[in-house]
Amino acid sequence: MADAAQCPGAEEVSMENQESSAAGKDSGTAGAGARDKPVCLIVLGMAGSGKTTFVQRLTAHLHTLKDPPYVINLDPAVHEVPFPANIDIRDTVNYKEVMKQYGLGPNGGIVTSLNLFATRFDQVMQFIEKKQQNHKYVLIDTPGQIEVFTWSASGTIITEALASSFPCVVIYVMDTSRSVSPVTFMSNMLYACSILYKTKLPFIVAMNKTDIIDHSFAVEWMQDFEVFQDALNQETSYVSNLTRSMSLVLDEFYTNLRVVGVSAVTGSGLDELFVQVEDAAQEYEREYRPEYERLRKQLAEAQSKKQQEQMERLRKDLGAVDMTKTPATEEANIAGPSDLIMTRGNPDEEEEEGEDSDTDDIDHTATEESKENDAFGNFLTERKEVVQVRNKKCAMPEGP
Ligand code: GDP
Ligand code: MG
Repeated sequence: MADAAQCPGAEEVSMENQESSAAGKDSGTAGAGARDKPVCLIVLGMAGSGKTTFVQRLTAHLHTLKDPPYVINLDPAVHEVPFPANIDIRDTVNYKEVMKQYGLGPNGGIVTSLNLFATRFDQVMQFIEKKQQNHKYVLIDTPGQIEVFTWSASGTIITEALASSFPCVVIYVMDTSRSVSPVTFMSNMLYACSILYKTKLPFIVAMNKTDIIDHSFAVEWMQDFEVFQDALNQETSYVSNLTRSMSLVLDEFYTNLRVVGVSAVTGSGLDELFVQVEDAAQEYEREYRPEYERLRKQLAEAQSKKQQEQMERLRKDLGAVDMTKTPATEEANIAGPSDLIMTRGNPDEEEEEGEDSDTDDIDHTATEESKENDAFGNFLTERKEVVQVRNKKCAMPEGP
């Protein structure tokens, strides 16, 4: 498993510092609503659709309603976070340093940073759980490029961790002003549809930038198939033929879709948005919670198994030291925690050997996630070696 300890920048600033520094800003949220847990709003959307501006606007809106949200920034590459973030990935992972150390480009840097952060997401969960009584909403801003989150292992880990503890809703932010062509609109909707199936969570489409263009044209296209066909008829490309067939398929998707027109700049549409959020949160309770509760149980079992395995490995390692009968040094005379574990571990050494050899051969408990973590650990090690070799080569000509 990829160990957070081997990550550059990962330990530079602890999440807790950031958390406690932001905690002061959270005071005064006593009247948080009737729900015993906050609703997590995971904000997704194409680069430039307005996610960050939208989160900023929601934060301001909730502050004026005296319901300050708990805000998390998951974009490691953003220059400035325009809202007070309780947790900011940039405090934990240094994206530029990750790029440099592993010889990665911007996209690789973002994916790797998010992966590194995901390995410590259990800590984030603890922070949210500690503050859950104080907040009605948890807002999560995601990286600019949507696929970094929706099609990566870390995106899945983070989404599943959140959704197995809190009611979660995906808000898909869409740039309405860039969707006025029926073909572009359809492409955007197909993407939204794929995210719905990928995240398996209640879904709201926030048609953003309504200060530039009203979203009613899009709503009409979704409600009235004929109107959309008319718009398509004005285009005569091959793509429009494909779109015609695709839009038939999407009709079903539209009928159950929550759509709200908003402007992250002016703040219009937010009241309607929160009506839809409430509806979506109820849908989570009804339809999704049982599934995620099952998942949480599985995760907890896997976790305790993993802890046991780690403990066993630790015992085995410490036992091995004892078996070599290393000469007693002054250090060895100082009783520390390792001594205690060693003496406790010794009596069942034989039994442990048997168990370990079994698990070493075939890891029956390995989950997809742990395999991915292993692969990620290998990837990091390899990248580091590549960069080291490259640096050596660069340094050589200067030598003699
Ligand atoms: P992100 O990449 O999805 O996080 O997008 P940003 O929040 O960084 O916004 C991208 C651009 O769209 C910025 O220039 C914003 O000012 C602009 N923008 C975001 N929301 C709105 C909106 O509601 N109306 C208008 N006119 N511009 C917006
Ligand atoms: Mg952004």
